[in-house]
Amino acid sequence: MSTLLIHDPVFLEHETGAHPECPQRLRAMIAKFEERGLLGRCEAGKYKPITEAAIKRLHSAEMLERAKQLAELGGGHLDADTPISPRSYEVALKSAGACLAGVDAVVTGQVTNSFSLVRPPGHHATPDKSMGFCLFNNVALAADHARTKHGLSRILVVDWDVHHGNGTQDIFYSDPDITFVSVHRYGSGFYPGTGSADESGTRDGLGTNINVPLRANTAPKTYHEQFRSAIEWAADQCKPELVILSAGFDAHRLDPVGGLGLEAGDFAELTKVMLEVAKAHAGGRLVSCLEGGYHWDAAAESAAEHLATLLDA
Ligand SMILES: [Zn+2]
Repeated sequence: MSTLLIHDPVFLEHETGAHPECPQRLRAMIAKFEERGLLGRCEAGKYKPITEAAIKRLHSAEMLERAKQLAELGGGHLDADTPISPRSYEVALKSAGACLAGVDAVVTGQVTNSFSLVRPPGHHATPDKSMGFCLFNNVALAADHARTKHGLSRILVVDWDVHHGNGTQDIFYSDPDITFVSVHRYGSGFYPGTGSADESGTRDGLGTNINVPLRANTAPKTYHEQFRSAIEWAADQCKPELVILSAGFDAHRLDPVGGLGLEAGDFAELTKVMLEVAKAHAGGRLVSCLEGGYHWDAAAESAAEHLATLLDA
């Protein structure tokens, strides 16, 4: 049993200036993995940038061109929160590509599970808008890849980033094959503002979108109960062949933007729930992709707890 870790210094080349989503996040995580002896225990893997054709299966051509052209012009802002640098478009293609490679390795049985340590993140990117630090939706593209390249028909996507995965929700809102569960802080104008429990999907996808909105400062015990019950219920409904995770670490108590009270060790517990569900339905196949997490030390410690638990699967 083994865990693939995809990381690459190229993900530091998406420069954002004085911004919470900065290259130092990844440096802190890699240093922590090294310190805890985790790096040497992981399988290393190759990946390719995602193709523009694959991006256009889920995102509009206009959205792709906008990011590409702004990068070519030297950078700028895709929205108020989403600065990009000259390298950002290429790096975003690689970020998504590294998540697709996690799917390839896990679905072909090369490894049991994977963690793609990428940036820019992806879960706020909607079908036609880059937003919230995200250029293209890495986990949605990974799920689409599992379906089109590997022929899977039932996929569970879980998002434990403290922010609602609005982009992933929008992309799969009427899609019966992809069940999406987002557990996030909600209310009082917290970003991005969507993610209420009554957003449950539409048409053929009705019932396949599950939101677990939590108030600021929800007790960790309550968080764990709600998380486990939503994930287990969703997995029983969809009986996934593959589980994909949007792994943000901004629900940590110290996160400067999060406002939920988890500790690093809580992410080990959440990972165990994910592994149980993956084992029960999907032969243990779990593909994890980094999203947010903005307190460098806390996010690094939390990501290390996550990775160590994946390695122990
Ligand atoms: Zn977040």
